[in-house]
Amino acid sequence: MHAEIIAVGSELLTSSRIDTNSLFVTERLNELGIDVRAKAVVGDDSNDLAALFRQALDRADLVILTGGLGPTDDDVTRDVVASVLGLPMTENPEVVDRLRRRFESRKLKMPEINRRQAMVPEGAIVLDNPNGTAPGLLIVAGTRRVLLLPGPPRELKPMFERVLSEHLAPHAGSRRFYRRVLRITGRSESHVEQAAQPSYQVWRERRLPIDTTILAAFGQIELHLRVSADSRADADAILDAAARDLHLAIGPDIYSDDGRLLEQVVGDLLVAHKLSIALAESCTGGLLASRLTDVPGSSRYVERGIVAYSNRAKIELLGVDEHLIREHGAVSEPVARAMAEGIRQRAGADIGVAITGIAGPDGGSDAKPVGTVMIATAGVGEPAVRTFRFFGDREQVKFQASQAALDMVRRRLVDYHG
Ligand code: AMP
Ligand code: MG
Repeated sequence: MHAEIIAVGSELLTSSRIDTNSLFVTERLNELGIDVRAKAVVGDDSNDLAALFRQALDRADLVILTGGLGPTDDDVTRDVVASVLGLPMTENPEVVDRLRRRFESRKLKMPEINRRQAMVPEGAIVLDNPNGTAPGLLIVAGTRRVLLLPGPPRELKPMFERVLSEHLAPHAGSRRFYRRVLRITGRSESHVEQAAQPSYQVWRERRLPIDTTILAAFGQIELHLRVSADSRADADAILDAAARDLHLAIGPDIYSDDGRLLEQVVGDLLVAHKLSIALAESCTGGLLASRLTDVPGSSRYVERGIVAYSNRAKIELLGVDEHLIREHGAVSEPVARAMAEGIRQRAGADIGVAITGIAGPDGGSDAKPVGTVMIATAGVGEPAVRTFRFFGDREQVKFQASQAALDMVRRRLVDYHG
């Protein structure tokens, strides 16, 4: 079954409100194995909506329209759908009654304009709306299904859950979508894509039902694999083999294929090796410590984290030699190294990690432009220090620096046999 979604509402075309209904609907449909092939946002205009609706009917088995079911003149969805499908509408006395009672329960008289919401196209199933006045409608037209849902998310969600289980799930078949997300650091999107392409080729030749999507974010690439299968076991067999192919092609740059974030992967490695970690952060201002301590149970391995922002803090709290700062600058490999060793010793931790850099937008120079970040680790093997050049704004530089620091620790622990 293929679905299309049309979100109706002029406000959704402006920045004042974003269409979230289609995201919710898509997610729930995908869980049932129903693919959403296209979606659109359209203003409260009968002609525009009619044109889009006709197109969607041509392509999809299920067309879902959200919004525009209110009582006012700008709510056109019901009328447009009935007229495109050529269905006469009549007032449904039960719905009028329900609406009237809803108003009476609040000691109000029902405004006449609300009678519009009781107009039902011939043959349509009326979907009760416990959270609002606009009832939903389900119309079965030949092999096509058309579903009209109210715009407010708190009305749409419970109504859609019921339609799913009562009317859509029985027709969806046993096929479902199953996903696997591989998270990758240390490579660009195109390098990941290039390394993955030969595997995709093999899957295509073997006609494996795998869809792939690559998502690039700062400091991380995600490969999303999706298969349609009759059972979790069938899906896992395909996804396990696919993940193995990608592990062979991409290697240890893949840090997780089971949904874990980088801070969780690092935490799990620290627990497995019974190691503790201490952090000395300058330009990230505690972000690394924050991310590591977002993980429940991190008290088992996070010993402490210090934000040593000023030179004086680096000297006083980490024991960095002030001559080192004077000679090389606070953003330098020797200072990063001294910070990592300083925090490791003072904390009595197994691993010390230090970050010092220029997050911008000011403070860059030709030699050390904005985005220059030095990251050092000490303990568990040879001390290491690396210089990175990140792009983006201040927040993005900080995030990438924390990501790179976590990744340096991860790689160190993956290779560690202590
Ligand atoms: P309507 O059913 O068109 O009267 O919509 C009522 C209200 O629901 C709108 O003012 C929005 O606040 C909200 N709404 C409508 N469509 C959406 C949508 N696609 N996503 C999120 N909120 C929506
Ligand atoms: Mg509206």
